[in-house]
Amino acid sequence: MPLLADVAVPVPLSQAFTYEVPAALAGEVRPGARVLCEFHRRKLLGVVLAVSERSAAIDPSKIKPLAALVDARPALPAELLAFLQELAAYYFAPIGEVLRLALPAIEREQVRALKAQGELDGVLDLGRAKQVGGRKVAYASATDVVEEPGTLRGQAAAVLALLRANGEQPVARIEERFGNARSALKKLAERNLVTLDEREPPRDPFFRRAEERDVPPELNAAQAEAAERIDAALAALSAPPGGGEHPASTHQEPRRIAQEPRPSAFLLFGVTGSGKTEVYLRAIKSCLERGRGALVMVPEIALTPQLVARFRARFGDELAVLHSGLSDADRHAMWASLHVGKVRVAIGARSALFAPVPDLGLILVDEEHDGSFKQEEGVRYHARDMALLRAHRAGAVCVLGSATPSIESVALVRRGKLAELRLPDRAHREASLPEVSLVDLRRFGAGPSGDPLISLPLHRALEKTLAAKEQAILFLNRRGFAPSVVCGSCGTLTTCDACSVALTYHRGRRRDARPPSPAGAPAPAAPLEERPEGGRLRCHYCDYAGPLPDRCGSCGARNLLLEGLGTERLEATIAGSFPEARVARLDRDVAGKDRSQAILARMREGKIDILVGTQMVTKGHDLPNVTLVGVVNADAALGLPDFRAAERGFQLLVQVAGRAGRRDRPGRVLIQTRNPEHPAIAFAAAHDVPGFLEREIRDREEVGYPPATRLALLRIDAVDEGVGRGAAAKLAAHARTCPEGVARRVEVLGPSAAPIARLRGRYRFRVLLRARERGPLRGALAALAGLIRDGLDRNARVMIDVDPVAML
Ligand code: ADP
Ligand code: ZN
Repeated sequence: MPLLADVAVPVPLSQAFTYEVPAALAGEVRPGARVLCEFHRRKLLGVVLAVSERSAAIDPSKIKPLAALVDARPALPAELLAFLQELAAYYFAPIGEVLRLALPAIEREQVRALKAQGELDGVLDLGRAKQVGGRKVAYASATDVVEEPGTLRGQAAAVLALLRANGEQPVARIEERFGNARSALKKLAERNLVTLDEREPPRDPFFRRAEERDVPPELNAAQAEAAERIDAALAALSAPPGGGEHPASTHQEPRRIAQEPRPSAFLLFGVTGSGKTEVYLRAIKSCLERGRGALVMVPEIALTPQLVARFRARFGDELAVLHSGLSDADRHAMWASLHVGKVRVAIGARSALFAPVPDLGLILVDEEHDGSFKQEEGVRYHARDMALLRAHRAGAVCVLGSATPSIESVALVRRGKLAELRLPDRAHREASLPEVSLVDLRRFGAGPSGDPLISLPLHRALEKTLAAKEQAILFLNRRGFAPSVVCGSCGTLTTCDACSVALTYHRGRRRDARPPSPAGAPAPAAPLEERPEGGRLRCHYCDYAGPLPDRCGSCGARNLLLEGLGTERLEATIAGSFPEARVARLDRDVAGKDRSQAILARMREGKIDILVGTQMVTKGHDLPNVTLVGVVNADAALGLPDFRAAERGFQLLVQVAGRAGRRDRPGRVLIQTRNPEHPAIAFAAAHDVPGFLEREIRDREEVGYPPATRLALLRIDAVDEGVGRGAAAKLAAHARTCPEGVARRVEVLGPSAAPIARLRGRYRFRVLLRARERGPLRGALAALAGLIRDGLDRNARVMIDVDPVAML
C-alpha cells in the first residue's frame, strides 16, 4: 500500500489533499512539516496534517507525489498542529488559512535548497509566506559615484533614485516595491553606484535596555493563595505520564474539565492594582521549574512596555517578546528560539496564541475581558477562548486575569469550568481604590472653558490636581477634533461616500495647541470662520480623508458647523483653560508604536500634567502620580446597538478609574454623564464589579444573549445592494428550513441590514443564528457551509463569525 500524506494547502478550502510520499522521503515526512506540492500546475507550500499507509480513496493514478520536503524538523509541533485543526473546525475556517496564522517565515536557505533540487518545473508559489535570511539582513545604499547621464533606465534608475532620496534601505523593502530589484541592484553594484551590505538588523526596542533583575516582593495573603493554587494545578498536570489524565494527543471533549478532580483553568479576579502581575510571575516560575514552557497574552503589547519590562526583569533572556513592531528576521529568530526550546516563555498580543512554546505548561491571558483578543478579519478567532482550548489539549494550566472579568468567563466560573481566584485589595499597603463621584451633566453646565463637556466640578478638580503637582487623565472615547460636521441651515450630516457613517473633522498636527479663538470658549459648534486651517475630514471606517468642503453638499449653504467634542479639541480646550499645564494626548492619531511608549514614559517621569486620550489611556498603566481621572462623557459607549454595550462601558469606566491613586496619595474619579442611573455607571461608581456582573448575567438570560445562548453571525456584503440582500435572504431561508431550524433548536434572526449598512462601498447584511446549545448551532452552520461555497451569487461575500464580538 502506498504511503499517503494529507496536506493542507493555502487555499480557502476546508479539506486537505492527498499526496503520495516518495520512497526517498518516507520516514522524513511528518505531520506539521511543510512540503512543496503540485496544485493546479503550481508548486504550493503546504503543511502535512497526517501520514499513513493506506489505499487511496480516490483514483490512485490521480495522486501526485510530494515535490519536496521543506522542514526536516516539523515547523508545527504536534500539540500546535492538533490545536490549529480544532480551531479551524470550531470557526468553520479553511484549514490552510488557519495554519498560516502559525507558520513561521520561510528561510532563504530553505528556498535556495529547494531551487537547487531542480524540482521546480512548475511555478513555485510560496503563497504569502514571508522569506527571511537567518538573522542577517541585506541593505543597499547609494554611493557618491555619479553615472553618465542617460545610461540608466527602468528599474535600475528607479531603485537608484529611491536610495538617493531615502538613504539606506533593507533590500527586502526595495523588493516589495520593485519586482526585479535584485537584478537592478546587482547591475548598480557592478557600476559602483550602490553598495550592498549584510548585517544584523537593529535590535528590537524591547531589548534595547538591559533590564535589571528585580527582587520579587513578598506576596500578600491573597496573592500567595492564588499562586499556590496555580502551582498545585501545575503539579497535578505535570505529574509523570501513566496517570494518563492528559495525554496531549487524545481528543476528549472540553466538557470533561468540569469533572476533573482538580481545576486546571482559573479566573484571577483582582481589583485594579491588586498585584495580578506578581501572581503571573510566580506562576511562570513554577511552570519553568517543572521544566515546561509558558505563554503570556496581553491585549496591546505596544501599550504595555512596563509589563514586558517586569517580565524581562524576572526572566531575562528566557523570554521571547512577540509584537507587530518586530522585523521579519527578529520575529523569525524569536520563533526559532522557542521552536528549538532555547527560550521557553513567550509574551505577545493575540497572535502569540500560536507561538511554538516548547512543552506548553501554562497560558496566562492578562486583561482577558479586552475586545482586542478577538480577531475581526480573516480567521475570526477569539484568543481568550482558544487559549482555554489550547491549554486544555496541551495539558496546561490556563489563567485568565482581569479586574473586570468578561461575562463569558464569569459564566464559566458558575458552571464550574473555571476556578475563581480573588485579589480583593490593592497590593500597595497605602493604596486604596479611588473615590468616584458622578457629575450629572443635566445639572452642571459648562465650567470656565465654556465647553459643556468640561463641567465646573471637573474644571475645579483639575485645578486642585495641578496645584498639588499631581497628574490627571481625561478619558474621551472619540478621536479627532469634532465627531460630526452638520449644516447649520438644513441640518444635513456630512457622511462618507463609501460608508454609512459620519465623517470626523481632524485638525491634525499644529505647532500651537491653543484653541482657535483666544477670547476663550470654543462653542460646541464653531462657525466656519473660526475653523483652523489645514484640517481634514476622515472616515474612521475606511481610509477616506479629504478637505472640509466650504458649503453643504445638500443645500449649498456656507454654514457648516463642527459639532461635538473629540480628543483633539479636548486637548486644545484644556490647554487653553490651563495655560500653565503641560497637556498631551494619547490616541491612535498621535501614537505610532514608539510614540505611545514615549508619551507614557513622559507621563511616568512627570513631564505631563494632564493626559487626554481614548481607551489607550485605560489600559493597565501603573502611573504612581495620577490622582485624578476624568471621564468626559460616560454615555458615549453605552448607546451602541450591541448587547455588550453596557458590559464594555462598565469595563472602560472601572479600568480608567483604576489608573487613579495607585500609591499613597488617594485618587479621585469624576464620571460625567446624563444618565447616572444606568447600571454600568452606578455600579462602576460604587466599585461594585460583582454586583454589575450579577445583574448583567441576569439581563442576558432574560434577553437570550450569550452566555445564556450561543451565537453565530453570518456577515454578508456586496457592492450591489440587491445582490447582498438576496444572498442574505437565501441564507436565512436555508437556515430556517435545515433540520435544526425546523426543530427550532436554532433560532434564525434576520436577514437584516447591518447597523453600519454600508462600509467601503459594500452593502452589509446579516443573519444571526442563536441556540441554547453548541451542537445544533454547528449543525446549522454545516448545512449552510455548502450553500455558502457554491449556492450563492458570486458577487456576494459571506463570512461566518462564530461567537461574534463586534455587532456593528
Ligand atoms: P494589577 O496588574 O493587578 O493591576 P500590578 O501587578 O500592576 O497590579 O501591581 C500594582 C502595584 O503593586 C505594582 O507597582 C506592583 O509592583 C505592586 N505590588 C504587587 N504585589 C506586591 C506585593 N506583594 N507587595 C508590594 N507591592 C506589590
Ligand atoms: Zn468610509
